[in-house]
Amino acid sequence: MKTILLIGPPASGKGTQARLISNKYNIPHISTSVLISNVVNDEIKEIMKQGTLVNDDFVYQLVTNRLSQPDCERGYVLEGYPRTMTQAHDFEKLLAKLNQKLNYVFFLDIKKEEVIKRMSGRIVCLQCEAIYNENYPAQKPKNKGICDRCGSQLQKRSDDNKTTFEKRYDVYMGMTAPIINYYQEKKQLHVIKCQDLVADTFQEIEKIIDWAC
Ligand code: AMP
Repeated sequence: MKTILLIGPPASGKGTQARLISNKYNIPHISTSVLISNVVNDEIKEIMKQGTLVNDDFVYQLVTNRLSQPDCERGYVLEGYPRTMTQAHDFEKLLAKLNQKLNYVFFLDIKKEEVIKRMSGRIVCLQCEAIYNENYPAQKPKNKGICDRCGSQLQKRSDDNKTTFEKRYDVYMGMTAPIINYYQEKKQLHVIKCQDLVADTFQEIEKIIDWAC
């Protein structure tokens, strides 16, 4: 069983790396932002639009339901959770309840200037969740504005604008960054230096997973 967490600032590439991990190790990719967006609720939509965090208990319920599905029995890559110290403690309890052990925590280490560049070029497919970037030649779609995988129209995320991004970054520094020390102290943290090429960053991650196999 492989249980993997991916932590990092907004636009650090968590979704992209989680998808690669999911494909290579054949485990589900679980994104709390996708779980939350699937809940049709105006209050939640507004919180996401503002770049602040959704209530810990609410997210805990979503994560608990999702990790209890049979496809998670072989493991999963969980992206965007935990995001607060309360969530980190909740997750600890959830692992105990599900009788699971946490195998890897990957922290995507990247400078703020670089995430701003990534955020400003990011375009996503709302149908199949594929992620592209117009600021990196290797990450552009083959046809401008069209998803390579499913042919749907690509769009910018509504929270990928300068004002909301600053808010999301501040929330990350204040609420999420302390989790890095928490996992470091528990000796569970792997720091991954983000590279320009998605494949180079992934190589660092797979080296660590494969080494242990
Ligand atoms: P992301 O795609 O990971 O940048 O998340 C987008 C938005 O979803 C965040 O700005 C939050 O509003 C919400 N969100 C995602 N994951 C969490 C979480 N673990 N706890 C609270 N809110 C979250």
